[in-house]
Amino acid sequence: SETSERRFESNPTVCPFCGVGCSVEYAGRGSATGVEGPVNGRGEICPKGAAAFDVVDHGDRLTEPLVEHNGSFVTAPWEEALDRVASGIGEVVEEHGADAVQFFASSNCTNEENYVLQKLARVLGTNNVDNCARLCHASTVAAMSERFGAGAMTNTLDDLGEADCILVNGANPAEQHPVAFRSYILPAVRDGATLVHVDPRANDTTEAADVHLPLRPGTDIQLLNAVAAVLVEEDLVDEGFLAERTTGFDRLREHLADVDVAASAEAAGVDPEAVREAARAYGEADRAAVITGMGTSQHRCGTDNVHALLNLALLTGNVGRPGTGVNPLRGQNNVQGASDVGGLPGVLPGYEPVTDPDARERVAEEWGVEPPAEPGLTEVEATHRFGDEVRAAVVFGENPAVTEPNATAVSSAFDDLDFCVVIDLFETRTAEHADVVLPGSAWAEKSGTVTNTDRRVMRMRPNADLPGDARRDFEILTELGRRLTDRPEEFAYDGPEAAFDELTRVASIYEGMSYEGVGDGYQRWPFDAEAGTGTDVLHAETFATGERTAPLAVVDADPPADDLDAGELTLTTGRVLQHFNSGALSRRSDRLMAMRGEDVLQIHPADAAERGIEDGDRVVASNERGTVEAAADVTPAVREGVAFCTFHYAEPLANALTGDALDPAAKIPEFKHSAVAVEPAADA
Ligand code: SF4
Repeated sequence: SETSERRFESNPTVCPFCGVGCSVEYAGRGSATGVEGPVNGRGEICPKGAAAFDVVDHGDRLTEPLVEHNGSFVTAPWEEALDRVASGIGEVVEEHGADAVQFFASSNCTNEENYVLQKLARVLGTNNVDNCARLCHASTVAAMSERFGAGAMTNTLDDLGEADCILVNGANPAEQHPVAFRSYILPAVRDGATLVHVDPRANDTTEAADVHLPLRPGTDIQLLNAVAAVLVEEDLVDEGFLAERTTGFDRLREHLADVDVAASAEAAGVDPEAVREAARAYGEADRAAVITGMGTSQHRCGTDNVHALLNLALLTGNVGRPGTGVNPLRGQNNVQGASDVGGLPGVLPGYEPVTDPDARERVAEEWGVEPPAEPGLTEVEATHRFGDEVRAAVVFGENPAVTEPNATAVSSAFDDLDFCVVIDLFETRTAEHADVVLPGSAWAEKSGTVTNTDRRVMRMRPNADLPGDARRDFEILTELGRRLTDRPEEFAYDGPEAAFDELTRVASIYEGMSYEGVGDGYQRWPFDAEAGTGTDVLHAETFATGERTAPLAVVDADPPADDLDAGELTLTTGRVLQHFNSGALSRRSDRLMAMRGEDVLQIHPADAAERGIEDGDRVVASNERGTVEAAADVTPAVREGVAFCTFHYAEPLANALTGDALDPAAKIPEFKHSAVAVEPAADA
């Protein structure tokens, strides 16, 4: 706010609160305003965007480094804190090797920062670097990369306007990507596109839908196989596309012939006629687009869920044309970019596998050192090994003690580390377990680029100076690179632009991009350096695998990890319009907290009546992993047998209840299906 000593100025930059990437700038009095940008062409923003400055000048901001001393934090000069990091990490590397260190990259920070962080890990000698894409779309990326050769949106937000049918599976864009919903999806629907919404919980997206399939959590494969079976049975497939652009149709057709649509629909808890209606809307459309979110991906069988979804697009020829495709909406403002630039344990910048010797050699030409050949640990795998083979962590702008499943166990695991450094704006739940906390920079204080959900690289520009002794994240990370590795010269950048230029030489999908080229607009990957343009619609002639065809997949249902005992409900966690991720930012906004101050547990009226629960009563949800207490929101919006709460709050900590089961291919946790007992709170 203008009451502080700090200097604010208006400079178009990118909203930090979701992957849509709306352009915003400082508007005085601690507020953001939308400005006409590449995505929000009329300057529209949502309530979170409007509140984005609330965290920037918040009184809780860390303004000096903190070091742990006799069990509590004391402030320390930067030199002392950085020395402590160098010795803490250095000792672990010396004693246990570089693979004993885990790096948490940040989906909420810039491409340049994440590029430097993953380079730091790899120059140090480990591929143990991951970002919270692991917790949201890792399974989507795994399935799409395998079949199509690229894990990002196949199409653009703009070309959704050309769709005749939009199938939204396990996403709630009306609340999670509000400007994308209002500016791209809703206009298509108003123009006549049929909106099919698959979600166990009716929400704002459902209100605009023509067909709602409120499936039982964990039954996506049964439902999607039933849709595929109808497509084949009712001859709604695209024979020409199947012959030219796919393989494996005969095998899939044989498999689908055994799918009893009525029985599968029943297993998924939905009306068979509504399944047929959805299949017809999708199959009869000239152009049909799929939008997919965490309802699809956050399951132990998340990768197979996405495989089943990809079948629908391939069966009907809805790939490679505007208004079609399979489009994962990304959550954080740079979760796409953090992954693009190599913040993942199995791939180098530009998604080149670490196991590919040619890819490692190309990186070595730039860095002077070859990255390790073995894939590193994912986030969740790493926390399971804290105190064992993982002895130290560098946590950059993430809050795993709140966002990871079985979070109470994760919090304790942080205490098993020999050393932990957290770089953040606030003393988060994770920072409480650190040895050193370094005060970093907020979104509005940095320069760099982010990559939004439809692969647009856009510039971030500072709107504020730094509070106290906080430092820019880019400077902190390059300083750590100089202190922790034996190649300090590799981290001597003039600034973020130099790191971006290096990224364009290392990651082929970014080759040819530049700050100048991005300018006030964007450049989209994959970028054609010669033509100087990006590619809007992927897989038009060939798939990104380099093949003309993509395989159809036979997918069998796989039950969730948690069995439901008699009387238990399925807890499914998610997000709401007013909050962001672990809530470390959005819960510090008075205006967002005024809109939604506390979490509630949604429960169906029949389940509530059975338990003697009335709307507003305090209730306890529990299982063997933990207990949470919240007010009951008794509503038919959530299907019978299901309870819903968000993971935005540290109290109640929803992830105290979620389980450790991981998808075998993508290592994504099963946030969408946890068995819980729900009962009135003892003193209610
Ligand atoms: Fe920010 Fe997303 Fe809202 Fe746009 S839609 S203002 S990017 S939170």
